[in-house]
Amino acid sequence: RPDTTLLEVNNIEVLYNHVILALKGVSLTVPQGGITAILGGNGAGKSTTLKAISNLIHSERGEVTKGSVLYKGQNIVGKSPADLVSTGVIQVMEGRHCFEHLTVEENLLTGAYTRRDGRGATAADLELVYEYFPRLRERRKSQAGYTSGGEQQMTAIGRALMSRPEMILLDEPSMGLAPQLVEQIFEIVKRLNDEQGVTFLLAEQNTNVALRYATTGFILESGRVVMEGSAEALRENPDVKEFYLGMS
Ligand code: ATP
Repeated sequence: RPDTTLLEVNNIEVLYNHVILALKGVSLTVPQGGITAILGGNGAGKSTTLKAISNLIHSERGEVTKGSVLYKGQNIVGKSPADLVSTGVIQVMEGRHCFEHLTVEENLLTGAYTRRDGRGATAADLELVYEYFPRLRERRKSQAGYTSGGEQQMTAIGRALMSRPEMILLDEPSMGLAPQLVEQIFEIVKRLNDEQGVTFLLAEQNTNVALRYATTGFILESGRVVMEGSAEALRENPDVKEFYLGMS
């Protein structure tokens, strides 16, 4: 795979409510075809970074006050989430965010409305989602609100896939899930990356699992990148081992 940069975040600052400086100059690059992990503890700024990229920051009274975010060289700061989807970027929010009263399949179909190619091949896309998430096929007629946390996470990712994205921003996919399910979700992320060429940028507190599946990682502390490198190098780094992998 050619190592082209798909997304470039340059020295961004994010301010909430005009006073809280959550990001203090964050820079990162996301290569096309990779799985990039943003790591760090509670409140480090992982979600904020993803929301700054996808412009979901506005609905939380936050704004990017400095820096730029380039997608294929174009500044995307201020683009609406819907415009971004047509550019090829979609975010799966933390906490799943399914439409609880709709069935699993209806949830998936809501993701098809902004297809980029206009082919209208919704049935084929649904089939693709069910291939990766066989469990969702079994549960397709169930009301999403009554499915398990793992199934809701799958539905949220499946819904994002329905727009045929080039890049998926995934916020804390492991949150609230049993270890075995976390592993399952990451296996599917890996397969989507390998087989469908989807680029992933994910925020994750679970450093251990993230560094096993990611290609590259960035570690945030208090709104700054304090370390970056290949996942392999980070796994072997003594500080990462001590402070993030819990094995000094
Ligand atoms: P977590 O895993 O807990 O979500 P995180 O690394 O994703 O952690 P962020 O949610 O990005 O961290 O938070 C970064 C900082 O911004 C924190 O200090 C947090 O309190 C603050 N913050 C986040 N959202 C808001 C908001 N809507 N309004 C004000 N401050 C916020």
